[in-house]
Amino acid sequence: MIGDRCLSDLPKVLVVGGAGYIGSHMVKYLDKMGAVITVLDNLSTGHRDLITAGEFIEGDLGDEALLNSVFERRDIDVVMHFAASSLVAESVADPLKYYTNNISRTASLLSAMQRHDIKHFIFSSTAAVYGEPDELPITENTSTNPSNPYGATKLAVERMLRDCDTGFGLKSICLRYFNACGADDSATIGERHQPETHLIPLVLQVAAGLREHISVFGHDYETEDGTCIRDYIHVNDLAQAHYQAMMKLLNGAESITYNLGNSAGFSVRQVVEQARMVTAKEIKVVEAARRRGDPAVLVADSAKARRELGWQPQYESLSTMIASAWAWHQRDFS
Ligand code: UDP
Repeated sequence: MIGDRCLSDLPKVLVVGGAGYIGSHMVKYLDKMGAVITVLDNLSTGHRDLITAGEFIEGDLGDEALLNSVFERRDIDVVMHFAASSLVAESVADPLKYYTNNISRTASLLSAMQRHDIKHFIFSSTAAVYGEPDELPITENTSTNPSNPYGATKLAVERMLRDCDTGFGLKSICLRYFNACGADDSATIGERHQPETHLIPLVLQVAAGLREHISVFGHDYETEDGTCIRDYIHVNDLAQAHYQAMMKLLNGAESITYNLGNSAGFSVRQVVEQARMVTAKEIKVVEAARRRGDPAVLVADSAKARRELGWQPQYESLSTMIASAWAWHQRDFS
């Protein structure tokens, strides 16, 4: 027995957004751990070929009848929710898309869970809830003050989850990711956004000759080299943390929040330099204006997740993370 669960009880997991970048790595990880997996994804930004295991249901969180049938016909222990809009710049330009996709649709999902008495939820939150942090590194107790609608909508869901716990006993773990990157060692799944806006895949597109240069957004931040500093965390390390969080919930834990990062910051210029070394390619840089809504520095203190979940990131060096992304991109681009 672990807690009140029998070792032979394989967790039955609904992965919402399992065709996306982080969700597809989660599905692969859950499969390796023997979980029973159902994937729900509307394929708006996800890709069918990234789902490597489980039953796939194509559909939208706005479809109440579909959600009812998903929960009525399957025995689900826990829901992991990866389906969200997640681009800072887009959220500034089109905030209502974020309020609808990230808050309203999550409320629909939680309502369906309430109707079917499913009490465990793992939520993909973000470092963007902190905004321009008032202390570094950022702990879970650092004050939250999102500087863009993306972060605001994720924080609103965290609040909604606390209210659902009070209201009907939904137990949730909110995982605040810093900058997810890298790809599975198999190089069969990885990051493929359309359009791509994230730094590492864009830098690798330049290395692969698919893009002429990388625009560095802002070079007058108050950082050593003037560019923004972020905490990059490998996607399989995120998956490991989700699995551990899920087991903690299934064993009776109370609702809680964890930061997931490497606790090391790298500037945009350092990322480009590391990518040059990993790929042995020229990567042309062009200085560009700051991107709206970007805080200067986001670096996590993840000691709580390491201590309480037993989380041990396996891909701690930036070069390993970039190398795994490069292996995937070389396959995906070819
Ligand atoms: N960035 C950049 N050029 C790009 C894309 C991103 O300089 O073409 C910077 C961005 O301003 C931020 C960092 O790279 O400081 C990471 O951005 P990304 O979009 O990858 O992740 P975010 O931090 O927004 O979640």
